[in-house]
Amino acid sequence: MERIKNKKVIIIIAVVLVVLIIGTIIGFKTYNYLKSNKYKLKKLGYNEKEISTVLKMDKEKLETILSLEYNEHIIPLFQEKYFILSNLNKYLNYKDKNKKVDYNEVVTLINVGADKDWYEEPIKTDMSKEYLILVNKYNYLEEGYKPDDLVNMGLQFAFQGKQIRSEVYEAFKKLVKTAKLENLTIVANSTFRTYEYQNGLYNRYKNDYGKEYADNYAARPGYSEHQTGLSIDVSTLSSTMDNFEQTEEFNWLQEHAHEYGFILRYPKDKEHITGYKYESWHYRYVGIETATKIHELGITFDEYYAYFLEK
Ligand SMILES: [Zn+2]
Repeated sequence: MERIKNKKVIIIIAVVLVVLIIGTIIGFKTYNYLKSNKYKLKKLGYNEKEISTVLKMDKEKLETILSLEYNEHIIPLFQEKYFILSNLNKYLNYKDKNKKVDYNEVVTLINVGADKDWYEEPIKTDMSKEYLILVNKYNYLEEGYKPDDLVNMGLQFAFQGKQIRSEVYEAFKKLVKTAKLENLTIVANSTFRTYEYQNGLYNRYKNDYGKEYADNYAARPGYSEHQTGLSIDVSTLSSTMDNFEQTEEFNWLQEHAHEYGFILRYPKDKEHITGYKYESWHYRYVGIETATKIHELGITFDEYYAYFLEK
């Protein structure tokens, strides 16, 4: 009798223990789930597929997404290669107003400031970037700016009376000499230009053909990259700038310019980013390291600047 009673007690205790353990496990799991990012994302309104995408992102991105209200554009924007977190609100506003523009384009336009019209809200160029300063239709140089290390270029490298910054000249000389070994002749046609020169050029266009034409074909004074002393328009001895693209010299530059620190500044089909029509002849010095990176990434200097130098 006594032994049967003991057995019953043991069974009851065992059952109670099992229930307690299972209960604890379930409770613990539920508690963990409610605290999980997965649950938080679900509550914000993300679906399973979106949640698994977000959970693979780095901590900073994940925490930002958790702190924001649901928006269908957030995840695709975050997945863009050149996404900049501090631009998120601008991306969202722009996408809202321009639904047909794809995410890649939204990120690019906002990063380089090309969501605005040329010259709309110009910023003074950050001169601390030295050889990597950005001068375009959104970033301008001071009126009196003139590099203090301009040198005269020799006639085997340039047409008469051309000046360029000394480091650029050294790089350009190497480039010209190497090209020469392959019987190619590259000559500097237009190099450093003063503010005053650009002012005259722009006003001449404006007076003759109107403001719109002038803005399409010449930079306003202060907005020309030629004022930096870092840009060179090239040609061969027989070509003009306009048919430079058809020359062997152009093909050679496509492959080798970066090895000397130069990039093609206004590539084909990038006018909406650079603000300039394709110019096969305009090369910008940025140093070998940066030129090589830009060459490999296949992006414009404006995009590179926004993502790698300004961010
Ligand atoms: Zn040029």
